[in-house]
Amino acid sequence: MSQAPAPLSTWARNIAPSPTLAVDAKAKALLAAGEDVCGFAAGEPDFDTPEHIKEACIAALKAGKTKYAPTPGIEPLRQAIADKYAADYGLKVAPSQVIVSPGGKFSCYLTILAVCSPGDEVIIPAPFWVSYPEMVKLAGATPKIVLADDTTGFRLTPAMLEAAITPRTRLIIINSPSNPTGAVYSRAELEAIAAVALRHNCYVMSDEIYEHLTYDGATPTCFATLGADIGARTITVSGFSKPYAMTGWRLGTTVAPAPIAKAVAELQSQTSSNATTFAQYGALAALKEKEKTRAALAQMLAAFDRRRKFLHAELSKIPGVRCLLAQGAFYLFPNISSFGLKSEEFCTRLLDEQKVAAVHGSAFGAEGYLRLSYATSDEIIAKGVSRLAKFCSGLSK
Ligand SMILES: *Cc1c(COP(=O)(O)O)cnc(C)c1O
Repeated sequence: MSQAPAPLSTWARNIAPSPTLAVDAKAKALLAAGEDVCGFAAGEPDFDTPEHIKEACIAALKAGKTKYAPTPGIEPLRQAIADKYAADYGLKVAPSQVIVSPGGKFSCYLTILAVCSPGDEVIIPAPFWVSYPEMVKLAGATPKIVLADDTTGFRLTPAMLEAAITPRTRLIIINSPSNPTGAVYSRAELEAIAAVALRHNCYVMSDEIYEHLTYDGATPTCFATLGADIGARTITVSGFSKPYAMTGWRLGTTVAPAPIAKAVAELQSQTSSNATTFAQYGALAALKEKEKTRAALAQMLAAFDRRRKFLHAELSKIPGVRCLLAQGAFYLFPNISSFGLKSEEFCTRLLDEQKVAAVHGSAFGAEGYLRLSYATSDEIIAKGVSRLAKFCSGLSK
């Protein structure tokens, strides 16, 4: 008689699979089955990677850049990333403080592993990117969620942060521009957050992956530049996925104080070795061939901005929907609480009845909202939002 296999691990049993990837996969399956689905669920640019970046990668492949690279990344790329931070933000870092990882998601995970131990608390403002709480749990630490809803523009205030801090708080996660809300903190707001973090000697992981996607003249702030003291406690995460339409390349970056950068590199050496070698040469071209990259980015930004304004204007016409005009990323996060449905039920019915895919706010720790990604075509946005309006008018009858 054979015994039943032993149960899976605590980690495997406690992890929640990514709800955004799940909704997007369901929408794509319906599309593949011939259904006329309007997808607002994707968390990636709908553009292709700019040509010069692809060419550089192809050249690297042909030149035989097919072996392991140094764990923290190829030297010229680490130098180019350090140069970028100096040029964009005046942040002086040595290439040794830069780690290139297989995706910004992995950069976040290694950062959390580098600073958090079991029993530590990590403050995560909600609405949050779905992976943060799961990563914190995988590190054995405890996520402490603090809801910053649309009444504060989805931005954590210093008072809210102060109230959530305990002697166990080790790390505070800040994501500006934000996924899922598109909110962008001002420099002054971040200075106030930094002051609280410093007073309690907490680390800050600043996820700046949407740094280049801002509108209406809003500018991203590099948290690490807010002062030498807070800079010594800040780990900056970013990557190539969002600004350069390179999601499939899997390239993320961490810039950290030397001891943390060393820890991140050591954790990476035992878990993934390096990010794909020839892909790093594509990333190098993204940073080196500045004019071409700037032109490609400007084109994407113009399309995103046009869609953002259109989607917002259309949402604002729907009775019962309230939506802030976010100034970053490629998401809007309308409030649908007036309809009295849980956001998950709202989204399930929206997909079933109107073939519109959106992600429920509860997935991001904020009940009563939807996340709509406008990284899709103008036609789909127009069609999808008119179906959403029809759905809402059916609910309020
Ligand atoms: C997309 C995203 C990332 C990382 O994406 P990768 O594709 O793994 O580089 C990190 N943080 C946020 C908030 C994101 O939306």
